[in-house]
Amino acid sequence: MNIVVFGPPGAGKGTQSKFIVKKYNLHQLSTGELLRSEIINKTQLGSEISSIMNSGNLVSDNIVSDLIEKFISNIDYKNRLIFDGYPRNKLQAENLNTLLKKYDQRIDLALKLSVSPDVIQKRITGRSVCSICGKIYNEYFNPAPINAECCASKYLQKRSDDTLDIAITRYKTYEKNIKPVIDFYEECNLLKVVNGETSISEITNEISGLIESFKG
Ligand code: ADP
Repeated sequence: MNIVVFGPPGAGKGTQSKFIVKKYNLHQLSTGELLRSEIINKTQLGSEISSIMNSGNLVSDNIVSDLIEKFISNIDYKNRLIFDGYPRNKLQAENLNTLLKKYDQRIDLALKLSVSPDVIQKRITGRSVCSICGKIYNEYFNPAPINAECCASKYLQKRSDDTLDIAITRYKTYEKNIKPVIDFYEECNLLKVVNGETSISEITNEISGLIESFKG
């Protein structure tokens, strides 16, 4: 099955996607992570997009579309993709549908993680990621274990766009663009709204329940 996960910045898309990937042997396609790795690897594309990402705005639809087609066209990932952070606007939702059709696939489930702006603020400003294993922590809700080898504090990194100012713009960008995406999946009868404010494991359980009921 192919799944779309969306929600405001800091909603927990990445955290939950990583759990679902493990449990159901899917492949996570995070457009944010793909774009960040272009910046880290200092590619030509990375230099073009870094200022856009650090302003909290969206990278151009064409750039992101080219990135995701590489995964959709890969036979190893056929019907095993979880889209984390894509689509973010109506054009991307339509483009995703077209690309999936081209490779004889479709979206089976669209999960919207709902989180209020107050919680989002703490989620973003408290977030850090282990540069070794990619695990996501939060100093308020889910701190990294003390004395851990892999996720020791020296390996924990903050995202450069996780400042309050940039987060506010990212949230506004989300609010401005997401309504037609929600409508799109609602009309296709694929939309499920999940309360993203409960604990990580409760949210994982709720999502697992939705996936199980889809699989029948
Ligand atoms: P979040 O959604 O929590 O802000 P992400 O890691 O998903 O974090 O995305 C970080 C940034 O990457 C976004 O603010 C945006 O600039 C860019 N980005 C990610 N996905 C897309 C997309 N589908 N279309 C355009 N830009 C994107």
